Order: sequence, then C-alpha cells, then structure tokens
Amino acid sequence: MVQRVAVIGGGAAGLCALRHLTARPEQFQAVAFEQNSRVGGTWIYTTNIGKDENGLPVFSSMYKNLRTNLPKEVMAFPDFPFKKGPPSFISHEEVLQYLEDYAIHYKLYQYIKFQTIVQTIRPLTGDNFTSWEVTYCPVKERNQSCRELFDAVIICNGHYSVPLYPDIVGLKDFAGHVIHSHDYREPESYTDLHVVCLGAAASGQDISMDIALKAKQVYLSHDKPFLTTDLPSNVEQRPGIKCLRRNSVIFNNSEEVEIDALILCTGYRYSFPFLTEECNLRIEEERITPLYKHLIHTQFHTLSFIGICKTICPFPQFHSQVRFVLSVLNGSLMLPSREVMDHDTERDYQTRLEEGLPARHAHTLGPLQWNYNDDLSSMAKFEPIPRVVQELYDYIHHHRKNHLSTYKDMNYELIDDKTFKPIQSCK
Ligand code: FAD
Repeated sequence: MVQRVAVIGGGAAGLCALRHLTARPEQFQAVAFEQNSRVGGTWIYTTNIGKDENGLPVFSSMYKNLRTNLPKEVMAFPDFPFKKGPPSFISHEEVLQYLEDYAIHYKLYQYIKFQTIVQTIRPLTGDNFTSWEVTYCPVKERNQSCRELFDAVIICNGHYSVPLYPDIVGLKDFAGHVIHSHDYREPESYTDLHVVCLGAAASGQDISMDIALKAKQVYLSHDKPFLTTDLPSNVEQRPGIKCLRRNSVIFNNSEEVEIDALILCTGYRYSFPFLTEECNLRIEEERITPLYKHLIHTQFHTLSFIGICKTICPFPQFHSQVRFVLSVLNGSLMLPSREVMDHDTERDYQTRLEEGLPARHAHTLGPLQWNYNDDLSSMAKFEPIPRVVQELYDYIHHHRKNHLSTYKDMNYELIDDKTFKPIQSCK
C-alpha cells in the first residue's frame, strides 16, 4: 500500500526527505509544507529582523558576509556534488543556489505547498495503527485552516531560529546595544565600537571575526579553554560574563571593560509548536525524548525528526537519516522494542554525562557523528557516507583550531572516496 507522508519544512532536511520519498512512488506519496515562498530554510538571507513581511518571526539566522564553515566538498549531499573548483568555503547565496538546484534536479517543487504554515500535528490512534492529522493554513490567511490525514510525518523544521537567551545579571540596566546572533546581519553598524561577543561556538567565533572588520575592539567572551589560534589584532578573548553595568561588562576574572554593544552568541532552542500533547514529545534542557538515534519517536515509529543533531556535517547526515527513516517506514528495517530503544538512548545519554558533557548537549555528536552515521547505514543496509567526508571534515576541524582567521582561504579537491588534497590558496 502506498503511504502518504507529510514533510514539515523545505530546508535542506525537508528537500532531502522529499528527494528520497519521491524516488519510491510505489511506496510513498509525499507532500511538503513550507511557510516561506522558496526552498532553502536557514540559507535564505534576509535583512529583516523581528517579524517578516507576513508578521511571522524572522526564520533565518544568516548574516550578509557569511561564508560556510565547512568546505563545499564535504557539505554536499552524497548524491549531488556542488559545482567543482574553488572556492571551497562559499557564500550563503551559493548554498541557497545549490539547494534550489537540488530541488530542480530531483523535480521536488511539484510536491511542496509553499507559504503554508503547519499549525498542528496530532496522532489518531486506532487498533494497531496510528495516522496523523495535519492542519495547516496559508501564511496570508491564517484563519483558513485545512486538515489532511497522513500515514507518517517527517519533521524537518530546523533548530537555528528560536534564540536561547542567557540570564545575565544587570542585562536590563545595560545601556548599550544588545542582540542575539539570530538578529546579527552585518558589521557596519559596529564601526569603531567596543563589542563583546558572548559564546565561542561556531557563531561566536565567526561573528567575532566578521565584526572585527569594523569594530574598534572585540572581546570574545566564553568559559571554554581559550582558543589557541591566530586572531585579528582587535580581537581578544575573555572569560564569561559575571555581570553588566550601565556602560560596562565585568568578566568572570573580575576585569571591568567599557563596551558599547553585546552580541549573545548563546545558541538556539528546539521548538515544535505544532506538535499536540498527544505526540508525547518532551524537551528538557534541550534534550528531546523519546527519540531513538536522535531520529525516531519510540512510541510512534511513523513520527521522525531529521536534523536534530548538532556539531555535525549536516547534509550528508540528513541523507543517511532520511534513508534510515524510509527503511523503517517501508518495513525493510525492523526496529527493536520500545524498551530496548529507550534503554539505548538513555545509555548513550548517561555516557555523555559521565564524560562531563552538560545535559543540554544530549544531541551534540562531534567526533561521534561518524560511528552514528555508520550505524544508520549498517542497520538499514545502505552505502555509508564516503570516508573522504570524514577525512576532510576532521582535517578542517583541526586546521581551524590553529588558523581561525585564515582557514577559509584554503581550497580542497576530492581525489577519490578516501582522499582529498588541498589546492592553491585564493589569496
Ligand atoms: P532549516 O534550514 O532551518 O529549514 C527548516 C524549514 O522549515 C524552513 O524553511 C522553515 O521555514 C520551515 N518551517 C519551520 N516551521 C514550519 C511550519 N510550522 N510550517 C511550515 N514550514 C515550517 N551547515 C553547513 O553544512 N555548513 C555551514 O557552513 C553552516 N553554517 C551555518 C551558519 C548559520 C548561521 C546557521 C544558522 C546554520 C549553519 N549551518 C551550516 C547549519 C544549517 O542549519 C544546516 O546546514 C541546514 O541548512 C539545516 O537544514 P534544515 O532543513 O534542518 O533546517
């Protein structure tokens, strides 16, 4: 029997889900819902901040000068390479173009309902069978709600849209300019200012470098061990923030510095506002349960989530996750019992806590991503991600640690499934 599958979101993950679903018309009939008027999700740069032209919260966190922090040679879906040749670290416009090309190549547009917001997703459980009620409406007519039933739902709504704000003593009395990195667009408004970027994960590092082009002084403030890398002369590291005063910041080493602006590069929240209570999904300290392999709801195997993991090589992992989910849906992969899956998830989580990872890193993979991806492919019996992706990703990861300001000047070429080589510099 052909299964009707709803895909929520038309970003990279949703497109990948559609690409594989629509390649099996004898098994699946797919519909994707996308609130924007085009594909690409987070890669659709906008100068808007706050609300978009339809009154919805601005979705994308892209900034004008962003260049990818991974070379395009590893970013690509394994079945759809980027155009060959330098540069390797590309602009957000080029990634968006790539995703549009992917959608055209696999003829995906016909399956996407654009400018359509998914409002609710609810399980309707009968004897041994759950179907899914999805309600949705046009972005411009939000009281015109429609309802459709599906056999399965694949959630691909991204997780870089809802800012996570830290509690900082004195924040409300600080007279300077404060934004979350979600609202950062360009460095010009920081010309000649003293700026603190709080948080040194990917966004904090990258935005500090971007702001340094214009700012007088940038303080990259964080509680991790200090980066041992080259930094522009106007970027200095400081510990985390103890408190703010009217015109200054006091760092955790008690040093006080006058500043004009603060950028909170403090991450994002998972958010699934459309899932009803009956979906039984919990989010505590940024840990989503009950998900097997960060992917499949252990109570409802027909409800899955692509792209939950953090610190990964996203598109190749989406490709593997989607293929795993489709193997579960078409019955070629039998999942273990709910108890075994929940136990597996809990054991993975406890191991992380024992290794000292904070609870909110339940879905951070980092170096664990390669075994995770291999697990998916060996369980569902599809070809693994080519080893060269890991080789180049790991190489960049280490190279960036020592060369934060210059690592994007290098270019790379894939030689075969296992090897890559650096090629001449842009500069
Ligand atoms: P998204 O791209 O967020 O797409 C989700 C889609 O769901 C959106 O189109 C949204 O409109 C839609 N949606 C959400 N809710 C609803 C609803 N209720 N109804 C209808 N539609 C809905 N990755 C890399 O590989 N390399 C990089 O260099 C890189 N740099 C990044 C820089 C920044 C600043 C950010 C924020 C992310 C970066 N990433 C990078 C990670 C990036 O998030 C992933 O590559 C990937 O694009 C995520 O795709 P997604 O489909 O999971 O989510």
